[in-house]
Amino acid sequence: MRYELMLPHQIRRAIEEHWPVVLPLGVLEYHGEHMGVGMDTLAVVKTVELVEQEMDLVILPPFYYGAASYAVAPPEGTGSVQVGGNVLAPFGEALFYSLLRVGFRNIHAIIHHQTENFVAGMPTDLAFKSAGRQAIFRFLEETSGEGWWGDEKMAAYYAEHEAGRNPFNWIQVHSLMSSETMADYPFDHAGQGETSLMMALCPEVVDMAKVGDNTGWYTASAKEASVELGEKGRDLIVARLRGLLGNAD
Ligand SMILES: [Zn+2]
Repeated sequence: MRYELMLPHQIRRAIEEHWPVVLPLGVLEYHGEHMGVGMDTLAVVKTVELVEQEMDLVILPPFYYGAASYAVAPPEGTGSVQVGGNVLAPFGEALFYSLLRVGFRNIHAIIHHQTENFVAGMPTDLAFKSAGRQAIFRFLEETSGEGWWGDEKMAAYYAEHEAGRNPFNWIQVHSLMSSETMADYPFDHAGQGETSLMMALCPEVVDMAKVGDNTGWYTASAKEASVELGEKGRDLIVARLRGLLGNAD
């Protein structure tokens, strides 16, 4: 369900039944002359909507205002919007803290932007990863008091941790594609992989008549994009999300 449409009794049910709460996280960035600037975020939104047809999810309004960077193109007339990680981190912390206050304990931010370096991290995902950790520490200290971890009640912490019952799982940040997905599907920026994915998921943001206007090296493969390839990528991503959210503790 879309969070903004939920009634309080539905929110209470989602909390009680531990539904995954998904934040589609992304940017607005130049993706060549042939594709819409929301591509990275739309890829998350559209695949999460498909997963929601199979399982109960709370879908938060997507956050589009991440750190696109100007690495691909300067913004003038191209559309990239850059909000730095230093600004995002306190925003994310406030957002996550607020969601913990509502009662959610199964929160997942999903991002598809610069995620080929997801383990080391890039500004947007690092800001939200840090925000999640800060929010959990603040929440635990404010609700259980300082010394919550050292308290006798926490003696089983490491065993619980092993069993996956760990407060630091309350908020997780994931890349849309895993390294396994990337091995089976072209990972690129505005090339064949992303263009195909949008053709399958959100065709109104692709205009192949404009592909010849591209000048960037990264768009060279976009000419080979196809709906069929995009459907393959879509299915790989949906399978990954099904596993991530379906097994979410
Ligand atoms: Zn992209």
